[in-house]
Amino acid sequence: MRKRTAVISLISLLLASTLLSGCSAGNGSGEVYSDTAFMLDTVVSVKIYGVPEDEARAAVDAAFSEIAFCEDLLSSDISGNGIDRLERNAGSAYTELDGGAVYVLEKAIEYAELTSGAFDPTVGPVVALWNIRNGSGYVPTEEERAAAAALVDYSKVLFDGDGRVKLADAGMSVNLGAIAKGYIADRVKNLLSGMGIEHAVISLGGNVLAFGGKPDGSDFIIGIQDPFGPTGEIVATVAVRDMSVVSSGDYERYFEQDGVRYHHIMDPFTGAPADSGLSGVTILSEKSIDGDALSTAVFVLGRNEGLELIESLDGVECVLIGSGGERTVSSGLKDNIVFR
Ligand code: ADP
Ligand code: MG
Repeated sequence: MRKRTAVISLISLLLASTLLSGCSAGNGSGEVYSDTAFMLDTVVSVKIYGVPEDEARAAVDAAFSEIAFCEDLLSSDISGNGIDRLERNAGSAYTELDGGAVYVLEKAIEYAELTSGAFDPTVGPVVALWNIRNGSGYVPTEEERAAAAALVDYSKVLFDGDGRVKLADAGMSVNLGAIAKGYIADRVKNLLSGMGIEHAVISLGGNVLAFGGKPDGSDFIIGIQDPFGPTGEIVATVAVRDMSVVSSGDYERYFEQDGVRYHHIMDPFTGAPADSGLSGVTILSEKSIDGDALSTAVFVLGRNEGLELIESLDGVECVLIGSGGERTVSSGLKDNIVFR
């Protein structure tokens, strides 16, 4: 039985976040300061290790400002931002975008090419059609799905090489939800580094980026969410430093209707939630932007193709949990994962 009470989990997370707000504690590896907020439509937290509390607080505040700035840049839900203007100009004109947005779009297209469209940032019309929030959404007709899927085509994102981008056809839209958090985590790491921080854990929903190791020289231990358990229940841990650990799954955002679960990771070819036999994908990589794109891509590709892709990439590892609970670990991670 895999039914979950997402709303209750969210409430308890928010409750925990309120209680944790601006928490400072010593834990054997020096001072730890952490704060939590609801941003990017999820729970984000930044933990700073090994610096005095006032410095850590300033760093966390700067991190939250950076996240808010990036959210404005990359969100599909903000009227008047670059993404919105890009979509309004679809089929007609080039749009000037902030360099950060162009970079994320270019990276997204790279991953679309690498995965032959399993990952596709132009999946916007499909995402909008289903409108999947936690606990609600719409089950479209076959015709509606086909019409939305027909608008998805990453080869129709045109770059003029000078910071301007165009969607070739009217009706196209982009959704950077599968890559933005990774990009933002990398940016927060750079920001913290510039402020003299050397040890931190940045957590944006299912995206965790370990910056350095702990001040005492030990690794950060990062838990991997059990796709079949309540939020916070982990299936395994990995020990990491300077490493991103990103998870995607059918448990993160979904609604149920007539006993069927409809989740938020779409198969761009069918215009419906991906049904690849996986329930959870976790990617380890140095940069979080890569892990984020790949976690979504591998979820769509499924176990065999997904594992093959990850084994072909240097410095990237994965943990795959099948819908029946089967576990697959990539070759470079086998000695560094502990299942519960
Ligand atoms: P989360 O946002 O929960 O961390 P993901 O990184 O897997 O999970 O991103 C899922 C989001 O990405 C969806 O909510 C949607 O906005 C977008 N998306 C869904 N399917 C795809 C896809 N095949 N390719 C690119 N983006 C997608
Ligand atoms: Mg992703």
